[in-house]
Amino acid sequence: MMKELEERILKDGIVIGPNILKVDSFLNQQIDSKLIHKMGVEFANYFRDKKIDKVLTVESSGIAPALATALELEVDCVFARKKQSLTTGDNFYHSSVYSFTKQVTNELIVSKDFIKEGENVLMIDDFLANGQAAKGMIAIVRQAGANPAGLGIVIEKSFSEGRELIEDMDIDIYSLARIAKLEEGKITFVEE
Ligand code: 5GP
Repeated sequence: MMKELEERILKDGIVIGPNILKVDSFLNQQIDSKLIHKMGVEFANYFRDKKIDKVLTVESSGIAPALATALELEVDCVFARKKQSLTTGDNFYHSSVYSFTKQVTNELIVSKDFIKEGENVLMIDDFLANGQAAKGMIAIVRQAGANPAGLGIVIEKSFSEGRELIEDMDIDIYSLARIAKLEEGKITFVEE
């Protein structure tokens, strides 16, 4: 848990639509670099003893916290692309991810060059809701014969089913903020 992040969510988070939190002012569009740095320190301290070889995330909003974490752990950071790019080639791992939030299916794509057998891979993402994005990352790590060593989440929507789904796969999750309830004008955190 990160008190400063909770305070920032209360100050700047906007609840839009049913159960959607907008945090564009510090995470999803403008990036508060000092706050992101502190997130990296938090994640790194929590997962350091897992001997992390690599940090994996999903473009685009996961990249900032993942990079901050990778810097602290002194390892490289890899992001899954949601679309094939001109340079992808055909040497890649992929996994289909359905987003309930956006109601679209995205393909997560990672070149086989960047995750290797036996590596301990820490996965980082901005939000955990239904757990589909995290499940996609885990699938890719497993395809590579690597070890999903943990999941670091900036904001967990604890009223959604993601945590249970991922914990059932025996993955340790560390969320910096856990939201119990999202109502217009009122955000309630999980009591720890
Ligand atoms: P999941 O796959 O766990 O259902 O959703 C994870 C992804 O959906 C996150 O990477 C994030 O992009 C997006 N997402 C889910 N809920 C929210 C939300 O309340 N606010 C924002 N900004 N993104 C969300």
